[in-house]
Amino acid sequence: MKIVSSIQELNAARPLLPGPVGLVPTMGFLHAGHISLVERARRECAGVIVSIFVNPAQFGPNEDLAKYPRDLPRDLALLEAAGADLVWTPTPEVMYPPGFQTWITVEGLTAPLEGAQRPGHFRGVTTVVAKLFNAVQPQKAYFGQKDAQQAAVIRRMTKDLNFPIEIVVCPTVREADGLAMSSRNTYLNPEERKAATVLFRALTAAKAAHEQGERDAEALRRILTGTISAEPLARLQYASCADYDTLEELEKVTGKSLLSMAVFVGKTRLIDNFVLE
Ligand code: AMP
Repeated sequence: MKIVSSIQELNAARPLLPGPVGLVPTMGFLHAGHISLVERARRECAGVIVSIFVNPAQFGPNEDLAKYPRDLPRDLALLEAAGADLVWTPTPEVMYPPGFQTWITVEGLTAPLEGAQRPGHFRGVTTVVAKLFNAVQPQKAYFGQKDAQQAAVIRRMTKDLNFPIEIVVCPTVREADGLAMSSRNTYLNPEERKAATVLFRALTAAKAAHEQGERDAEALRRILTGTISAEPLARLQYASCADYDTLEELEKVTGKSLLSMAVFVGKTRLIDNFVLE
């Protein structure tokens, strides 16, 4: 496994990889969710590149950029074991050279949900992912369903900019008690960690209602809201039942839909979602 940081090193290493090449973009502090993406890429691609970059542009001024967890030696050991060929760890100066003023913005899809709560977040995500795509030139790129809106936005950007890249979205990997794996779970104290299962419990309850025939989207949102409000350590930011493709809030659930939510558990902001088929 080769590790590179500068664009020059990447440009020297990239042509040596056999194709198709799969890219897994991450912010590091890797867990089994990230590794599932790398393993999927390993199965489907002759060359596997993983990027690790804590992207300042996707954090808001009051968010957790400074304390975002980092452990590069551990990440590299996990990636070696998962069979990655090349790890790219660009510095902020590589991604945002002095005088930087070029941004990629996806409209519409970025307005609701995470976009509404985190102004500028998706502009940071799409800009950095477009730069990763440009530099790496992968044939496939792997993202997690855990960040459902992000996956939708990246798919849109890839179509709109004619990137010749297949976007592969992989299932959310969970802890044994249902909590979606996230680098941010490390912020939770033991009591909060227990309370954090409330997201999975809420989504499971709403999904069960849907399976029993509930088609009123507001009723499903109320199940999410009600379950969260019963957990004293949790504070709901939003609960959504939206069209899977447009992310517009639904009145009736007829086709593929997305149940999603953002919840503060203590000071930690967690997101999760289920897809209703
Ligand atoms: P991050 O390092 O949080 O930016 O995540 C990098 C990639 O891993 C993104 O495509 C995420 O959606 C994906 N990811 C994060 N957590 C999970 C999870 N629990 N299961 C599957 N994919 C995940």
